[in-house]
Amino acid sequence: MARSYSLVPQAVAPVSTAYRQIVTAIPPPGAVEVVEKLHRYEPVAMQGQPPILWDRAEGYQVFDRWGNCWIDWSSGVLITNAGHGRQEIVDAIVKQANSKLLTNYCFPNEPRARLVEKLATMFGEEDRKVFLLTTGSEAVECAIKLCRTHGVKAGGRRKNVVISFDKAFHGRTLGSQQAGGIPSLKEWIGNMDPGFVQVPFPDGFRTPDTSFEFFQTCLADAGVQPAEVCGVILETYQGGSASFAPVEYMRKLREWCTAHKALLVCDEVQAGFGRTGKLAGYQHYGILPDLTTWGKGISSSLPIACVIGSSRVMDLHPPGSMTSTHTGNPVCCAAALANIELILREDLTGNSARMGEILHARLRDMKSRHKRIGWVDGKGLVAAVACVRPGSTEPDGDLAWETVNLCVQRGVLMFSPVGLGGGAIKISPPLCIPEEPLRESLAVFEGAFAEAAAKAV
Ligand code: PMP
Repeated sequence: MARSYSLVPQAVAPVSTAYRQIVTAIPPPGAVEVVEKLHRYEPVAMQGQPPILWDRAEGYQVFDRWGNCWIDWSSGVLITNAGHGRQEIVDAIVKQANSKLLTNYCFPNEPRARLVEKLATMFGEEDRKVFLLTTGSEAVECAIKLCRTHGVKAGGRRKNVVISFDKAFHGRTLGSQQAGGIPSLKEWIGNMDPGFVQVPFPDGFRTPDTSFEFFQTCLADAGVQPAEVCGVILETYQGGSASFAPVEYMRKLREWCTAHKALLVCDEVQAGFGRTGKLAGYQHYGILPDLTTWGKGISSSLPIACVIGSSRVMDLHPPGSMTSTHTGNPVCCAAALANIELILREDLTGNSARMGEILHARLRDMKSRHKRIGWVDGKGLVAAVACVRPGSTEPDGDLAWETVNLCVQRGVLMFSPVGLGGGAIKISPPLCIPEEPLRESLAVFEGAFAEAAAKAV
């Protein structure tokens, strides 16, 4: 359902703690003029988020110009794993910018060489190559291209079907959107490529049958022969629900892909760089995908993404045939290197795992006490809470919307549940959040949820 935020400032109770300050109406009157300008000059599609005018963001907090300060549960949209505005990243960007090398296409540059070496070796895997790109969608497009190229080589022209999962999100470009599993987002495509087929994601609640046999049955029902499959792509956890597939399922999927010469692709754009309490999300499954796609938390800042895979696959295309204007932009590479160093040096992956225990314990406890929570899921510092209508499992977008609204008014910044389609609230603070502000924000969340649920009966 299309929703939009009111731009009429609403008086709210002031908040003042060590971590949160709310001292104006929400939206702050001063923000309204700027937001209106955005509305005038940008497509309506850009209007999804709460009308809070970010002025500065540091660590796990976001500040506006009028004295308001939020504990951030968005990390942008799972971008700032190392934290917002980290000085080390700022310094690396400034240093590279001051060197006067701002861009140089695919000509060699040193930050790019250092970054690809880091990315190829940091996960402790053999024979990895890295192709740097700019956005997550672009990385997914490249993975699809490699699956199809590999498929045709391994099995001929008919080996070109990419299998993905219902409710998946892989981006908004033509290929990545077709690999996605949310039909309403694909209506604009019209003539869909029959080489993209989705099967149910084994989350255990929307798809109760989590056996790998069900994957095979669904393929057969869709009329797909294993020999036609060139690749299987999945988000390491599904963005909308924060749910993981069972380990057993993933191990069997890995074997199945190998047996049928299909490439297994894990889309780590959201899951990567410590978010789930492991450096790479697929490490929870104890498998090695053929290809992985990365973005967001790779730099905690500037736009950069990549595909990682074995040389056998990454070298399928000849020199000059996989390019992108901003590949390996030196300033973005410097930011990514500084970010990765911070994540490793400060063990933010470990913090994500530890804080994740607190987060998930509290959410499970909430679920046991609130009937309007259908399920909670996630690992590390990513979680989703599904709001449902009374006495049913039907998603309740109104309750999710109202909960987020109240949280924003009380100094916990979350992104709007609209994009998550129907009732799921996503929680994803920067991985540097300490225990006290995490617990404080959880208390705010529970209070807001209980109040919204009481109103929405
Ligand atoms: N893959 C996943 C799993 C994502 O969550 C997203 C973005 N939310 C993308 C791909 C697309 O990334 P981008 O917006 O950078 O194109």
